[in-house]
Amino acid sequence: MPATLTATHPVSGLPATENVSLTDLSDLSNGERAVALYASDLPDGYRYKRGDEVHLVAWIIQGVNRVGLDRLRRIAALEAGFRRFRARNRATAEQERAHAERFPDPERDQRAGELASLVTLSVSMSDEARERGLRFLLDGPCPECGDTRQVWACWAVDVDADWYEEGYGPCSLCGGAE
Ligand SMILES: [Zn+2]
Repeated sequence: MPATLTATHPVSGLPATENVSLTDLSDLSNGERAVALYASDLPDGYRYKRGDEVHLVAWIIQGVNRVGLDRLRRIAALEAGFRRFRARNRATAEQERAHAERFPDPERDQRAGELASLVTLSVSMSDEARERGLRFLLDGPCPECGDTRQVWACWAVDVDADWYEEGYGPCSLCGGAE
């Protein structure tokens, strides 16, 4: 029998779920869900059990209410920018500092991310939320282009013909930042 997400069995330490609907989450990106989980009462030693999605959703909603939707979205976007730079080994000192201020507990940060992804497996998101999850913001200027979003470089016009031209092109480090 498939696990149902609506049956709830109150267990101490778990959030109240009577008024929780899984669809409440559809307008939150994965990153936003992670930020909300971090800000919630999710216990540090929490261990996921099959069918716990409804509790995780309740914690996410609690986190959203605690942080506020606008702030939550901004934090998630800044985190996405930080992760993008870190993945390229280009995270700036300002990003590292801001990230540590936002998430002083690295272990909880990682756990919240893992649990958010787990929730996202069973609770889908709207196209808008998905698209927002691909956008990012930066703490401070881009070290590559100084926020002009363009860099002067030699670009391949046709690699086979060995044809290159010099000129401005989009900065590959921050390319999509607003
Ligand atoms: Zn840049």
